[in-house]
Amino acid sequence: MRLVLLGPPGAGKGTQAAILSEKLGVPHISTGDLFRANIGDGTPLGIEAKSYIDAGKLVPTDVTARMVEERLSQDDAKNGFLLDGFPRTTEQADILEELLSKKGEKLDGVLNFEVSEDVVVERMMARGRADDNEETIRTRLGVYRDETFPLIEHYGDAIIPIKAEGSVEEINARAMEALGK
Ligand code: ADP
Repeated sequence: MRLVLLGPPGAGKGTQAAILSEKLGVPHISTGDLFRANIGDGTPLGIEAKSYIDAGKLVPTDVTARMVEERLSQDDAKNGFLLDGFPRTTEQADILEELLSKKGEKLDGVLNFEVSEDVVVERMMARGRADDNEETIRTRLGVYRDETFPLIEHYGDAIIPIKAEGSVEEINARAMEALGK
């Protein structure tokens, strides 16, 4: 299955993706994780991305898209993937569609994790990642509202809504059911 996971920062996409990846047998590809790995390894990509991530801003699309293209070309992503954190703008959605169509592939669906802003802020504050301070969280929520939220309309009928409040197990069960598994 080729799925995109959508939702505000702190919606728990990463947590759910890890479980779904195991159950569906497709890799979890998280742009945030890929950036953090590059930052940890001190690669040129990581060095470039770090200032944007620390500020809560989007990393430039050309840099991000190249990283995603390379990851999607690896063997384990041939028969499916869970894409977490990309696309984050309609421009990125168009790039993804083009990337896939070059290979004769298309998305099977877009899981949209629905969660209130209050819960999101609470979860991010509890998580305590380097970019999870109050100011950065506020910036990221603004970026989400302005740039990422429009993807819900962009994807239209492909959207599969998942209520993302409750326990990890409950949310996972809802996602599996929505996928007909
Ligand atoms: P969260 O979903 O909690 O915001 P992520 O791990 O998905 O966390 O992303 C962390 C940061 O990585 C983002 O705030 C952004 O700076 C950068 N990033 C991730 N995905 C993208 C993307 N598709 N385009 C641009 N920047 C991205």
